[in-house]
Amino acid sequence: MNVHEYQAKELLAKFGVGIPAGIAALTVEEAVAAAKQLPGPLYVVKAQIHAGGRGKGKFKELPADAKGGVRLAKSIEEVEAFAKEMLGNTLVTVQTGEAGKQVNRLYITDGVDIAKEYYLSMVVDRASSRVAMIVSTEGGMDIEEVAHSTPEKIATITIDPAEGFMPHHGRAVGYALKLTGDLNKQAGKIAEQLYNAFVALDCDMLEINPLVETKDGNLLVLDTKMSFDSNSLYRHPDVMALRDETEEDPAEIEASKYDLAYIKLDGNIGCMVNGAGLAMATMDIIKLNGEFPANFLDVGGGATTEKVTAAFKIILKDPAVKGILVNIFGGIMKCDIIADGIVAAAKEVNLSVPLVVRLEGTNVQQGKDILANSGLPIVPANDLGDAARKIVAEVRKVA
Ligand code: ADP
Ligand code: MG
Repeated sequence: MNVHEYQAKELLAKFGVGIPAGIAALTVEEAVAAAKQLPGPLYVVKAQIHAGGRGKGKFKELPADAKGGVRLAKSIEEVEAFAKEMLGNTLVTVQTGEAGKQVNRLYITDGVDIAKEYYLSMVVDRASSRVAMIVSTEGGMDIEEVAHSTPEKIATITIDPAEGFMPHHGRAVGYALKLTGDLNKQAGKIAEQLYNAFVALDCDMLEINPLVETKDGNLLVLDTKMSFDSNSLYRHPDVMALRDETEEDPAEIEASKYDLAYIKLDGNIGCMVNGAGLAMATMDIIKLNGEFPANFLDVGGGATTEKVTAAFKIILKDPAVKGILVNIFGGIMKCDIIADGIVAAAKEVNLSVPLVVRLEGTNVQQGKDILANSGLPIVPANDLGDAARKIVAEVRKVA
């Protein structure tokens, strides 16, 4: 789960991390009121969307030469003007895709006198089973570009979770950022605070770009992106409360209500599978046969009629879907019960695209009989290869 910049900053501030003062706003009036509470005379009006690259982004509704989603305002009047330009409009950045994202929230924050911009991020590194801190002197720009053209300017410091954050990690961060004296000490301290926040909040990614050195010699977090391991959200109700569903794919939200693991993809074959491994194998074999999956969907172990119906509805909402492949292994669940669920669900949603079903496991013959006698044009398949070939042939007939 992702949160907005202002929410992430408020969380980080609780761990002692230095951030510029700022207030979120949903309307132009709130933006003006927020600016009045800040010291001034420089303010920054920042579009809050779950995507980076806002500064260099473009608003669809504004002229091509208009500025993007991070604007420096020199007066309250400018804050008002920029808020009017941004709210309700669609910001397109390198991370939003062409459709862009509508700006519904702003963050009005103190304008900082920047001496230098740095980069610091943290991810869980699965290979080393550690938290990896990635730091660079090249802040404020696209880190992928830095990694590509000047990889020597990026340092990675890994932290053993059993050992925790040690002073030498802090020194390594200060050294990598080429900081000396008090700024070097501040770098070590802020790195430790960020690490503590990362671990305590069960983050899976935390990116500070830029971390800035101010002209008066302080290190501040100017921009941050934070995402959380959704498997641990149950123990962070305060974080869960920050969820902004307007930023998420509606189909994925609907799926999560039914405890379905659904991820939308770009292909035309809808997939309904039980088990994540089988779901991935199913997507692979569709690709092997020359078409692309429209989604990843794991209905889980207890695929009830209700769940299967919800899954069909979610798959069919995607206009790109030209056919559905159901691939279910009846282990704990028996194939006849699954077949009943599929038939009931297909009737309820008035299935309008070809449906290929591959069942395997307990009571498989009863299951196949139920499908065959359902009166529905369900195409039965014997194994995974057969199923993939059949659904690919079906969607090509429609196309
Ligand atoms: P994004 O990465 O989405 O473009 P940032 O918050 O990183 O958004 O803003 C882009 C740039 O705008 C920063 O690299 C920084 O130079 C400048 N900026 C952002 N916030 C402030 C601020 N509070 N004061 C001064 N400059 C800022
Ligand atoms: Mg940034």
